[in-house]
Amino acid sequence: MTPTGKQQVTVLGSTGSIGVNTLDVLARHPERFAVHALTAQRSVAALRDQCLAHAPRYAVMTDEGAAEELARELTRAGSATTVLGGAAALDEVAADPAVAVVMASIVGAAGLPATLAAARAGKRVLLANKEALVMAGALFMSAVRDAGALLLPIDSEHNAIFQCLPVDASARPGLAGVERILLTASGGPFRTWDTARIAAATPDQACAHPNWSMGRKISVDSATLMNKGLELAEACWLFGVGPERVTIVVHPQSVIHSLVQYRDGSVLAQLGNPDMRTPIAYGLGWPERLAAGVMPLDLFETARLDFEAPDEERFPCLRIAREAIAAGGTTMAACNAANEVAVAGFLDGAIGFMDIPAVIENTLARVKRVEPESLAVVEAADDEARLVAAELLRSRGSRPLAQSEP
Ligand code: NAD
Ligand code: MG
Repeated sequence: MTPTGKQQVTVLGSTGSIGVNTLDVLARHPERFAVHALTAQRSVAALRDQCLAHAPRYAVMTDEGAAEELARELTRAGSATTVLGGAAALDEVAADPAVAVVMASIVGAAGLPATLAAARAGKRVLLANKEALVMAGALFMSAVRDAGALLLPIDSEHNAIFQCLPVDASARPGLAGVERILLTASGGPFRTWDTARIAAATPDQACAHPNWSMGRKISVDSATLMNKGLELAEACWLFGVGPERVTIVVHPQSVIHSLVQYRDGSVLAQLGNPDMRTPIAYGLGWPERLAAGVMPLDLFETARLDFEAPDEERFPCLRIAREAIAAGGTTMAACNAANEVAVAGFLDGAIGFMDIPAVIENTLARVKRVEPESLAVVEAADDEARLVAAELLRSRGSRPLAQSEP
């Protein structure tokens, strides 16, 4: 809180899809929140416009050249925002004593250090960056506990589960009377496609999600179902359950965002239009409910809710992630890193859609599995998997990678 009584908020990854939605919700509550820092990798024009609209104390660009350009532009525009460059500045604005709330919405492993810094500084951490938890779940959860941070999930499914679980006054979700968690998946844009059609899918087709508008990396993850594999790991860490207590349910309408099944036969679900401003507003306001600008759900228009089991034959990434979770240690960190390399390769046109699971599986067969006892160990596992996956991408040659490895 500041002397004005407003909560200072840092938005990590403010120019992305979650970042933009967060600023939209914050702007609806100017009496309650002020923006402390906004960060981006290199999109100067987008961050400049956000700084002019939200007047943060700091703006961080991890790309140093972009930081210099942003500083020039903001000075020219008469802005009082201080520009910082480099990745270390992310940790500073996440852990700054003036900050109460950190929205962790950088995409990928790049978000881990600053998200962990926010947890270690005991902030209210709004977690969109699921990769941080997937890579370093044990470290992250113990940092949250040790520092007394308040961790609120922003991923729509986990936010829904959080809303359906019994929660104590410190926002620690409990499992009293809970039998299973039912984690919903939309099934992605290729849910009804056959194997041959999926194998020929283009990046634009993979990014055309039927219900959600998101960044390109998570859109591809939704198309391969790796997103659900990452979310399974995320749910296990967040709620302290084993993967055997989580059932993945494909629900194409994305109206139910997930469910919790209780011992007495009750099943609680959270429903709403697919709009990330709902979980974002929930995280910002908890335990209060804030207006989010979201259209009310019209059940007559929704008309029907369908459910089916996921198909791990057509979508092998889900099986690969489940096996990596079971293997434990740094295997999920390696899986996440190989996935990031493979998805970037697919988006660049270097490999086909079905090469994504092949790169991941072949990487996992080659990397060491160690105990993730420190951030350095996790980062070393991430580095090793990236090198192996990049080598697999390079050595692809003329053969389709999906068939070139044993
Ligand atoms: P996005 O690609 O739209 O935005 C990513 C943001 O991170 C941008 O501001 C970008 O500048 C910044 N960034 C990218 N690489 C960086 C790097 N190396 N260093 C520092 N900053 C970097 O991504 P998004 O769709 O908003 O997703 C953000 C996170 O939220 C992801 O972890 C994703 O899985 C999760 N998430 C997103 C949605 C959604 O609806 N978009 C839903 C659930 C979870
Ligand atoms: Mg999700």
